[in-house]
Amino acid sequence: MKQSRRKFLKITGLATAAGAAVGYSDTLTAAARLRRRGNPAPDAIYGNAPAPEARINDSGQVVPNADFTVASTVCIGCTTHCGVRVKVENKSGTVVRAAGNPYHPLSSDPWLPYETPLRESLRWTSNHDESGLENRSTACARGNVVFDKIHDRFRVLTPLKRAGKRGEDKWIPISPEQLIEEVVNGGDLFGEGHVDGLAAIRDLKTLIDPDNPEYGTRANQLGILGTADEGRKDFMVFRFLQAFGSKNYSGHSSICGLSMRAGNAAFLSDFKKYPHLKPDFEHCEFLINFGTSPGQAGNPFKRQGKLLARARSEGNLRYVTVTPMLTNSDSIAAGDRSRWMPIRPGGDLALAMGMIRWIIENGRHNAAYLSVPSKASMERVGEPSFTNSSHLVVVTPGHQLEGRVLKASGDAGKEDFLVIDSTDGQLKSADQVDAARLEVDETIVYGGERLAVKSSFTLLKESAFRFTLEEYAQESGIPAEEIADLAHEFTSHGRKVAVDCHGNTMHTTGFYTTWAILSLSALVGSLNYKGGMSAGGGKFTDMKGAAYDLTDYPGKPKQPGIRIDRTRIAYEKTSEFKRNQAAGKPYPAKDQWYPFTNAIETGLITGSINHYPYPLKALISWNANFIYGESGGENTLAEALKDPKASIPLMIAIDPFINETSRLADYIVPDSVLYETWGELNPWGAWLTKTNAVRYPVVTPRQATFANGEPVCMDSFVIEIGKKLGLPGFGPQAIKASNGSLHPLERPEDFYLRVFENVALDAKSVPNADDEEIRLAGLQDYVPRLRRVSPENWRKVAYVMARGGRFEGKEGAYKESHLAKKYPGMISIYSETVGTSRSSLTAEKYSGVPTFYGARLVKGDLLVKRFPRSEYPLTAFSFKSNVVSSPNTASSRLRDLRYTSTIDIAARTAESLGLAHGDVVELTSPGGRIEGLLRVREGMHPEAIGVEHGFGRSGEGAITVQIGNETLEGLRFRKSGASINLLGFADPDRPGRIALSDFAVGSNSRQVIPVRIRKLPS
Ligand code: SF4
Repeated sequence: MKQSRRKFLKITGLATAAGAAVGYSDTLTAAARLRRRGNPAPDAIYGNAPAPEARINDSGQVVPNADFTVASTVCIGCTTHCGVRVKVENKSGTVVRAAGNPYHPLSSDPWLPYETPLRESLRWTSNHDESGLENRSTACARGNVVFDKIHDRFRVLTPLKRAGKRGEDKWIPISPEQLIEEVVNGGDLFGEGHVDGLAAIRDLKTLIDPDNPEYGTRANQLGILGTADEGRKDFMVFRFLQAFGSKNYSGHSSICGLSMRAGNAAFLSDFKKYPHLKPDFEHCEFLINFGTSPGQAGNPFKRQGKLLARARSEGNLRYVTVTPMLTNSDSIAAGDRSRWMPIRPGGDLALAMGMIRWIIENGRHNAAYLSVPSKASMERVGEPSFTNSSHLVVVTPGHQLEGRVLKASGDAGKEDFLVIDSTDGQLKSADQVDAARLEVDETIVYGGERLAVKSSFTLLKESAFRFTLEEYAQESGIPAEEIADLAHEFTSHGRKVAVDCHGNTMHTTGFYTTWAILSLSALVGSLNYKGGMSAGGGKFTDMKGAAYDLTDYPGKPKQPGIRIDRTRIAYEKTSEFKRNQAAGKPYPAKDQWYPFTNAIETGLITGSINHYPYPLKALISWNANFIYGESGGENTLAEALKDPKASIPLMIAIDPFINETSRLADYIVPDSVLYETWGELNPWGAWLTKTNAVRYPVVTPRQATFANGEPVCMDSFVIEIGKKLGLPGFGPQAIKASNGSLHPLERPEDFYLRVFENVALDAKSVPNADDEEIRLAGLQDYVPRLRRVSPENWRKVAYVMARGGRFEGKEGAYKESHLAKKYPGMISIYSETVGTSRSSLTAEKYSGVPTFYGARLVKGDLLVKRFPRSEYPLTAFSFKSNVVSSPNTASSRLRDLRYTSTIDIAARTAESLGLAHGDVVELTSPGGRIEGLLRVREGMHPEAIGVEHGFGRSGEGAITVQIGNETLEGLRFRKSGASINLLGFADPDRPGRIALSDFAVGSNSRQVIPVRIRKLPS
């Protein structure tokens, strides 16, 4: 070992040099003393660190260490989903380390050219010639330890069935076969009466409610809730839910960033695909982070932190972070390049509208860009994007076209918009005009009628001018001169400016907040510009590709009906509306409908509990922890779910842990964890080139197995259900190849390896992996499976797996001053979809342009009116750390790094209230309370109370559970800290118990919680 250390340079670990040791004699002495404590570590310098996975010898050759396998896969320690390389100890079969995958753009910048041999990639990241310093590819602190939860003793490894009442935390282990039999065929499963199984629920003929035929057939009474898409959502939705015949799937957006996503959808004129923008961090010159804190949280957490750090030190970046609390985004080292702007929680909308006002008032908007009215004119004049600023909106009160955008054909499906040509003042097709009149407020003749019209830009201007800068300052807590300064700087860098927002918009007016923030970027024209805003770099075709169409299969049923969360449809299209209209009282509906929202997670639960529009008969909750994750989830939903008859009769949780939500289930199906899982996915944000990452089990899943040897997990569970139910798309003749042949879906690999094959074959297919690459990537054991599933292309699939996916080179990011992958659609300054929609509760018309609304209840009452400052003088908001995240409580090592959370308050506020650092305090909201330790700090807005998200758990090992004869005692430290979501409360103006939400799109509100604080006796 000593001999080899002299001979070799390490790939990983610290560089050693005899000369350097002289200067570190104190440190070495201390290390030597430390080494004498407990069991001696195997190495004096590197302690218990595992040996390197490979070395570079004196000739510069890579010599792999046969004790380890290094596999390229994806970390799902947070929703960033970085490409990583995990080091697996062959003897124990356990993961001992995670590092970045140098081929993956989220982990390296620049990333390795895709055709680089694997062997060379090991040298590239090594200390050889110090190249590893330049090319380092990393996992973050969380990614480096979170895999310990694979071996957490609280993992569910066999199917569990509840033994007592729901939520009593008593379970019995059952066999995988019993699980499938009971959930498919139902029966008197719990001694509480008959429960329909999935076979009875899958009725594709009988209407749920003949009086409301638009609700669809009874198959819609199965709902599935997922979480952030970690690469398996398509399997669940395309292969299972759609084969079952239900429309009711929702991910976790509505408790994470739905306001942001919906605001992006409005801005980008696409409420179907819900695209969203991120800054081009690398070349941006001025960036405003509204609520987001790169370097502390956000997505992509690691990449944006790295690019931000580099851009501010080596590039030209200046940035402002607008948050109620000083975060890690701000850095003294960055000097005046970074600035923190303390804002009142929820004040972002007022700030953005104030900036819009100042920019327009001072003529700092890019009028020439905004005057380009169509894609055709955009291409003629060489712009990379265009807006509908000059499009004409009918404003004649009461006219049937009121709120509509004028089109030559009048056809809603066409995009033949009319504008006024600024050169001759004539009404023309937008396609024929290069510069349209921007400000319009006049009467025109259209279809023989005189119609009052205003341009989108005029409507935005009027909206922004409704309030003075001083009034916006009052609402945001940012002085008027600072709003003006910020707007001035934002408009002083040409197109190389960007805005970002995410979790800060999760409040009652978050949708309009996002739209207003994004409109700032439209005013300067930064979309699709290098250094501006990007909708992402796209992907290689995966699901519907060269080899297989994995979305379709023989016998796939139609899915009639509407969603239970009342999204994607206007109330005015329902039978209820028609009946009410016929009765002379079209409004109110029984509750709110969301015509331009794509999905609301807890809408599946509340819709069922309130029987509006219809109840679910079964719910599959797949790694979805809405009880903990939704502000008010515990307060509004948990009790109701405990009664199966009054809520959802059959609740199945697919989850590797018993958490706040799965503890309320009837069955828990164990799922795989991290590096045990399959998946294929694209980054969520801030990537500029085609990127597909793949994930396959690199360690053996620990769960019980089905009879065919497959570990029980989400994928194998739904395959077994699909086969038992006889669903189309499962079993021997299930998967459609492009040559018309059919292939089996019996195991997860039958699906995922074919997704990988599509990726490998897209466009110019990837090369074949040779035997050495297969060996270096540790894929030898996969060869028989690869040969079976992809007999012709298995070496190409192996090539993709060996690199952890398929990645376009960085040279594909830009074309001169524009992004190479441009968002192709129109920017909506005015949205006809929004501007012609109404609240189904009050008939209130939604503003078709960004506008200021105060924090409010769904029917319009301001929070400050209903919950006055005299009673609730402070406002609580949540934030995230760079270490802990809520799905990772079961990582004990992570909690070693960060044991607990605090309740944060500004020093001067604490002083005025007679509170001191370390006091035990109670926060009380209109619907909940929490206790915690007070942290008094500088760098807080004086009206704000900050609570870090991810603590105060009652799941994942934090509570005691009974499984069969075994009692698993909960761990105190996993409980520690406060959960801000316990402060959430129901909107008092809505029927049923529905947590406070965005009035227009229904996303959960957790950033503007009125609270009061008091010291508790210690
Ligand atoms: S940011 Fe960290 S925890 Fe998140 S996916 Fe990347 S390495 Fe894993």
